[in-house]
Amino acid sequence: MSEKYDNYLKEHIGNVEKGYKWMKNHLPKEIFDGITENDEWNIVQHDLSKYGKEEYDAYDDYFYGDKNDARVKDKFNKAWLHHIHNNPHHWQYWLLVEDDPENDRNFVCIEMPKHYIIEMVCDWWAFSWASKNLYEIFDWYRAHFMNIKLHMKSQIYLENVLSELKKALDEEIYGYVEQKRFEFEHPLSPLLEHSDSEGDLLIDDEEEAKLIDELLDEISENGR
Ligand SMILES: [Zn+2]
Repeated sequence: MSEKYDNYLKEHIGNVEKGYKWMKNHLPKEIFDGITENDEWNIVQHDLSKYGKEEYDAYDDYFYGDKNDARVKDKFNKAWLHHIHNNPHHWQYWLLVEDDPENDRNFVCIEMPKHYIIEMVCDWWAFSWASKNLYEIFDWYRAHFMNIKLHMKSQIYLENVLSELKKALDEEIYGYVEQKRFEFEHPLSPLLEHSDSEGDLLIDDEEEAKLIDELLDEISENGR
């Protein structure tokens, strides 16, 4: 049992909750249609099975142990499988693998309930919160979506959630930059004029990048 893994787990679960709250406050209400209070409670109770004996030590050894041999990897695979089989917020949970030689595809994707899709997004997004780059999830999804098997309806809902998330982030971040731009362009007093001798605005690309960084930091820290 390691403190490092305990801290990681606590932070991860906290970031799932932060992400969910942010989404709830910024995404269109329709996204959450049909999601009950009980479902929400479920989302914030994320990953509890990781504390169980079937998962805890194997994860700890694999990610924080000093040995990384085949036995550690085997134990981890078994724990990961246990995790997927017991946590419906993983798409693999909804994958029915068949052995019928008549079928050309040996798996069927069962439709995933909406609140588990939201929890899955919060789970992926939690890593963006940890790295303080809230956009990282979109690169991650682009790199992985070919391997993610989902029921058509679930995939449509998932991509709708992701695109609304991207829109809401853009609005929060670039909307803020826009407002700053407006303030620079329309100073309250001529004494606050922020233009240089050529009349160009002082808020250039570099300044804008700095503002975006600051805001991302602020959001990551306070969950604004
Ligand atoms: Zn999980």
